[in-house]
Amino acid sequence: MNTTHAYAAHDATSKLAPFELQRRALRDHDVQMDVLFCGVCHSDLHTARDEWKNTVYPAVPGHEIVGCVTAVGPQVSNYKVGDLVGVGCLVDSCRTCPSCKEGLEQYCEVGFVGTYNGQDRVTGENTYGGYSTAIVVDEAFVLRVPKNLDPAGVAPLLCAGITTYSPLRQWGAGPGKKVGIVGLGGLGHMGVKLAHAMGAHVVLFTTSTSKIEDAKRLGADEVVISRNPDEMAAHANSFDLIVNTVAAPHDLNPFINLLRRDGTMTLVGAPEHDHPSPQVFNLIMKRRRLAGSLIGGIAETQEMLDFCGEHGITSDIEMIPMQKVNEAYERMLKSDVKYRFVIDIDSMRK
Ligand code: NAP
Ligand code: ZN
Ligand code: ZN
Repeated sequence: MNTTHAYAAHDATSKLAPFELQRRALRDHDVQMDVLFCGVCHSDLHTARDEWKNTVYPAVPGHEIVGCVTAVGPQVSNYKVGDLVGVGCLVDSCRTCPSCKEGLEQYCEVGFVGTYNGQDRVTGENTYGGYSTAIVVDEAFVLRVPKNLDPAGVAPLLCAGITTYSPLRQWGAGPGKKVGIVGLGGLGHMGVKLAHAMGAHVVLFTTSTSKIEDAKRLGADEVVISRNPDEMAAHANSFDLIVNTVAAPHDLNPFINLLRRDGTMTLVGAPEHDHPSPQVFNLIMKRRRLAGSLIGGIAETQEMLDFCGEHGITSDIEMIPMQKVNEAYERMLKSDVKYRFVIDIDSMRK
């Protein structure tokens, strides 16, 4: 057992505070790592505040983890001490159901084990995430970090990156395709970078006029202020794919109107309350599709990391010490971050 320093939420309303936990003794296939950097995902905030009504307290969030291997179990073959590694949203799954066998562990039919607020398949204990100095994860759920990328900027790829990469691949983003990304936050800014690198024509939808220039710098070919009906109307019936990352309930109809025949809007934003149901005729008249997508499997996450390595893609980050995480949550709620907070975990070692 290893005493680990962490930050935890103890209930839905109080601030995250220092917390000590024990990491498990290594199992045969376990990799132990010192956490170096951990991104701050909006899902961390939803969980800390029990907005999805399933939080087990104390809750230690964090599923955008980059770390350095410090020990390995006797059967580990893929990693060794000193390796730079990543851990995303998943730390285990049943590994035998059809989804797991297809490498889609995020859709495990008995339920994947989340990096935090999950239930360990051996002990049943609550899992604790990356707002901590160390973590122990089965090697099958550990990722390799490309050596040419800045490790702090890689951390957000482990959730924001894969959550946008997977639907972009699933629905064929690439040359000749017009792709919309809704919301320029952590997920959205990765969606813009990735869709641009895939060769699509990228349009960013934002509610923030202050983000127009940034969106273009990040790779958007066009930027639309989604609250301006004239700007929206100019793009009617033209999109092959829209990836909607917005973290709050909103009217989906103005975006569905922008899909061409057979176009798809996939929801990845997971707000506390549902969006109002969209108009049926808006969907059936053009055989449009409204879809959803959940993070990505382990193989696809490694593919995404390698793609980012080849294209030199990392997240635009603002580094914070652990002690500033509560402020970061408040700023994230005001969309006041460019474009992902990353916690320097060394701040807990000092
Ligand atoms: P974030 O950094 O807070 O970004 C969300 C963006 O949505 C904001 O930057 C803002 O962009 C826009 N927005 C926020 N409130 C809005 C409102 N009321 N109306 C319109 N636009 C609004 O959050 P994130 O970390 O990217 O996460 C986004 C959502 O995805 C969260 O709900 C998170 O839990 C979820 N998520 C889902 C998955 C999955 O697997 N499906 C994985 C990770 C996260 P603009 O300023 O540009 O308008
Ligand atoms: Zn996340
Ligand atoms: Zn399974």
